[in-house]
Amino acid sequence: MNAPATPAEVRRQHGSVRAEDLASLEMIRKLVSFDTTSRDSNLALIDWVRGYLDGYGISSSLTFDDDGRKANLFATLPAQDGNVTTGGIVLSGHTDVVPVDGQPWDTAPFEVTQQGDSLVGRGVTDMKSFLAVGLTFVPEFMRRGLRKPVHLAMSYDEEVGCIGVRRLIADIVAKGISPSGCIVGEPTGMQLVVAHKGKKSWRCRVRGFEAHSSLTPLGVNAVQIACEIVAFIARRARAFRDDGDKDDAYDVPYTTVHVGTIHGGTALNIVPRDCAFDFEIRNLPFDEPDAFFAEVKTYAESFLPAMRAVAQDTHIDFDVLSATPGFDTHGGSDITALGCACNGTDQFGKVSFGTEASLFHNANVPTVICGPGHIAQAHQPNEWVALDQIARCEAFMRRLADQVCVN
Ligand SMILES: [Zn+2]
Repeated sequence: MNAPATPAEVRRQHGSVRAEDLASLEMIRKLVSFDTTSRDSNLALIDWVRGYLDGYGISSSLTFDDDGRKANLFATLPAQDGNVTTGGIVLSGHTDVVPVDGQPWDTAPFEVTQQGDSLVGRGVTDMKSFLAVGLTFVPEFMRRGLRKPVHLAMSYDEEVGCIGVRRLIADIVAKGISPSGCIVGEPTGMQLVVAHKGKKSWRCRVRGFEAHSSLTPLGVNAVQIACEIVAFIARRARAFRDDGDKDDAYDVPYTTVHVGTIHGGTALNIVPRDCAFDFEIRNLPFDEPDAFFAEVKTYAESFLPAMRAVAQDTHIDFDVLSATPGFDTHGGSDITALGCACNGTDQFGKVSFGTEASLFHNANVPTVICGPGHIAQAHQPNEWVALDQIARCEAFMRRLADQVCVN
């Protein structure tokens, strides 16, 4: 199953990869140079990619958000027989990145800086390097001719709940495009991943009643009630860990729940009226997010009688923030076999973080995840990716070309 070694692979086996071995370095620099923080427009990047693909005679179709400030790009490299709809594979990734606000960066985040054997910059791991490698191989795919189409899918608003890609998928379904598989290039250390957990998140808002803090019995302390609910969630986290079902193929082999933010109160001498916190579950397929939520809600509601005995207009409300299903192919699919061939190994695993993979999977496009860098390096200040990982991604893409090209 070993495809011909590249210069970069040879270097990897005999020493560290050099930046000049990499075909995709300039493309990575280019994509990172666009500040595509999720809250901002990604259209400058999308326009640039569109122009790049145009240069190879490949047209792109865009689907926009409600304001027209952000777009998904979907482009098809046609098969040699002109087929653009049936079979083939999707190379998929998101264009947005998480904010750099408040993070202690030592380099300019929207420039790629080489430091030793790694590249530093926002998005080098999550996940512009995979997109850059895919784009770099477009001329090779076209030159060698394709047996089946290769589609490029680049989404917006992944980092805020896999929002954008839903429109892209709806659009390709509406156009009758039916790929036989999808590779999502989220950072997996170039390990093939065939399953990930689901994720659902909520905001809890506790409305109490203000009073002078010397008169606490006259108030309803929203911060303290919120903290009771937070403590309940922490107990559930321990129960999932200690008593829940496990799947040891995952990096974290049980369902996790956690509280990520909490805001409440205005001053120490005021019984706080408001407190809000955000929490999430990352569930294995056999744990149901809504069952967990129902437990939290029931527990929260147990405070209401005492709250309302002090002040009628007190309440606890919940909003759903995001929901991304999990998926598990159990390794038994053609796309897994293709991924193994491209990676030159039969090994595959499962991960805890959510991706757009489950949305393709649920649209009947069998999907795997494989991309350069590690999730632990994502979302960090000084986000970095090893040159070796880029080299492996290029080797993966070259073997993919061997699999899907005529010549
Ligand atoms: Zn990502």
